[in-house]
Amino acid sequence: MSKLSGKIALVTGGSRGIGEAIVRRLAADGATVFFTFNSSPDKANAVAAEIGATALQADVANADSVTNLIKTVLEHPANTTKRVDILVNNAGITKDTLVLRMSENDWDSVIDTNLKGAFLMSKAVCKPMMSQRAGKIVNIGSIVGITGNAGQVNYSASKAGLIGLTKSFAKELASRNILVNCVAPGYIDTDMTAKITDEQKKALQGNIPLGRTAQPAEIASVVSFLASDDASYITAQTIVVDGGLAA
Ligand code: NDP
Repeated sequence: MSKLSGKIALVTGGSRGIGEAIVRRLAADGATVFFTFNSSPDKANAVAAEIGATALQADVANADSVTNLIKTVLEHPANTTKRVDILVNNAGITKDTLVLRMSENDWDSVIDTNLKGAFLMSKAVCKPMMSQRAGKIVNIGSIVGITGNAGQVNYSASKAGLIGLTKSFAKELASRNILVNCVAPGYIDTDMTAKITDEQKKALQGNIPLGRTAQPAEIASVVSFLASDDASYITAQTIVVDGGLAA
């Protein structure tokens, strides 16, 4: 039997990049997977069709959209157990610029998607997970939430906030056997990081002890571990997956 057989997983932002890799990995590990997209239905539907998952449109920054999403997942015919066993808060955006040029909207939209989105989603799955007396929540943070980064005041604040959110949700929900952890990736090859020039990438790689950037699957494998029974005594933690960059 696969390690996530019988589990219902919900992944936000599963249409591309790290989220897509997580969706593919959890499905390969036997979970029934639901995932969200925001603005790329064609890509999301193609991934869903290929692996037998369900793609649903949702804006994680919008409370009504999140409420409708959870209702849809719980009532969906593919959800035979009517549970949510695993939530992965992966959806995220950047609006990078130096602080003097950063607009209020640059700040609000990044905080709303990356931090408020994780709050809304985690709050919405609390009820079913509490009555199940079991659940796993994995938040996708970032190494810059620990180190900070010039040009990413909004983004690094959202990711630092996710670490506090992770610890507080974990402490509040531990008595119901709901385990909450965070994965903090370093530099991963996705659309989000595609803007960087080859020269910048070479310089960055020189600072990474493992000498390379990572593939999305290398984050997905850690998420799969945290979502599984192999991680039954790990909660409130942030696992850094950065090739040694910030050590
Ligand atoms: P991508 O830009 O490749 O993908 C982002 C995903 O988030 C897409 O599926 C997108 O959906 C979805 N999304 C964006 N906004 C919303 C929203 N409001 N509601 C619902 N879904 C939304 O990002 P990555 O794969 O690179 O990043 C994934 C996560 O990993 C993010 O949280 C990011 O901060 C984090 N991370 C990434 C790193 C990297 O180096 N790439 C490093 C550290 C952390 P759609 O396609 O429909 O727009």
